[in-house]
Amino acid sequence: MTNTNNKEHSTKYQLICGMEVHAELKTASKMFCGCKNDPFHAPGPNTYTCPVCLGMPGGLPVANKIAVEWTIKLGLALNCKINLFSKFDRKHYFYPDLPKGYQISQYDLPFCYDGYLETSFGKVRIRRIHLEEDTAKLIHGEVNGQKASLIDFNRSSVPLVEVVTEADVSSPKMAKEYSKKLREIMRYLDIADCDMEQGGMRLEANVSLLETSNFKNQSSKGQVNRLELKEDQLPKYKVELKNINSFRFLEAAVNYEIDRQVSLLDQGETPAQETRGYDSVRGETFSQRSKESAEDYRYFPDPDLPPLHFTKAQIASWQKDLPELPDAIRARFISEYDLPIKVTEQLTTTQKEVKWIEEVFVVAQRLNIQPATIAQAIINKKITTTVEMEPLQVVEAYKQSTATESVDTDQLETVIRKVASENPDAVEKLKSGQQQLIGFFMGQIMRSLGKKIDPLQVKTELLKIITQL
Ligand code: ZN
Ligand code: MN
Repeated sequence: MTNTNNKEHSTKYQLICGMEVHAELKTASKMFCGCKNDPFHAPGPNTYTCPVCLGMPGGLPVANKIAVEWTIKLGLALNCKINLFSKFDRKHYFYPDLPKGYQISQYDLPFCYDGYLETSFGKVRIRRIHLEEDTAKLIHGEVNGQKASLIDFNRSSVPLVEVVTEADVSSPKMAKEYSKKLREIMRYLDIADCDMEQGGMRLEANVSLLETSNFKNQSSKGQVNRLELKEDQLPKYKVELKNINSFRFLEAAVNYEIDRQVSLLDQGETPAQETRGYDSVRGETFSQRSKESAEDYRYFPDPDLPPLHFTKAQIASWQKDLPELPDAIRARFISEYDLPIKVTEQLTTTQKEVKWIEEVFVVAQRLNIQPATIAQAIINKKITTTVEMEPLQVVEAYKQSTATESVDTDQLETVIRKVASENPDAVEKLKSGQQQLIGFFMGQIMRSLGKKIDPLQVKTELLKIITQL
């Protein structure tokens, strides 16, 4: 595997990358029929099916209201505007996992548009979020010794949201952070499991490179401000890296693709407009097919599904229902509990964890223990905890871990003098100002005493005696 991670790419080119992420919503039933939406736990293939999701002629789809509501909530969480009038369209293409010959999707009036997600590398603008249906799953195997492709329709017509960004992603790491934050938001909203291995969340990156030497106003690193670029200044080609099922592979695939495109461009060639997959074993992207354009899909409004109208009041009430989101929680933890940012990030990975740790903080504060101290103890594994533990139990465990036994000053002095006489060199070094030897002495003294006593008491006594020696 080529290791292209973490290296600086040529400053002659700048990555121009947009993301398209699909995620399956975890509604109880499928998108356009009443079948159970649980493809990963079905008792067997083709158990959760009906004429609608099998694509039989005459099956009439009915839109899942919850899936629509969740898509709009995701849009609101990503600062999107909402189309008050929207509709479903048919997107035509042929493939065995799509027996209708079209996928029900949304074309020109997606539910959500014009939003953004903030990352540590900068803002990623969200172009649109639409709702569509997933396809059936093809299984390539063997039947009676013959190679065969089998179709499992349990996944057919599972609600699928697609989040499309502007090409604001400027590094492989930024692509990874964006995707992780998107998954986190969907999990906080409790609308999708985003299990990457099962295909519950699928990542796609559209990668091209901009030659920056032609531009004025470059930054010190030779980068051009993406927001100042006009559409016709963007690269004339786009390579779609499709169906990536891990954040790590995403970063590696974009890295690989940058190298591949740099060498083509350096030879005066333009990379072909195509779809590429990522081979995680070889660590390479590979060509799959050249890309269809929107015209090829013959989009038109689905005549079986009435258009949808929303009122401003409805959108406002969904906005009000949104839970507190990760970025807001982290900002609040930092200001309210005085937590360092790294600690905050580690204790807010799920909503359940946030609720739990905040209860721990409240109990701790009542007992005059700083939240930051107990948070550090949890992260540094000074105490073993799970989110199932009662908050009071956690605080008790913390108190026990810091409890010290008392020792009388005479006994302590005797031990310190004994340890000092056994280590004359170390005493000299400490006296000459080598502070790092304090730790060495503390360890020796504690071991001699055979109990855990207040380290501050030991240190004070130690320095008092040593300076007298
Ligand atoms: Zn069905
Ligand atoms: Mn799609």
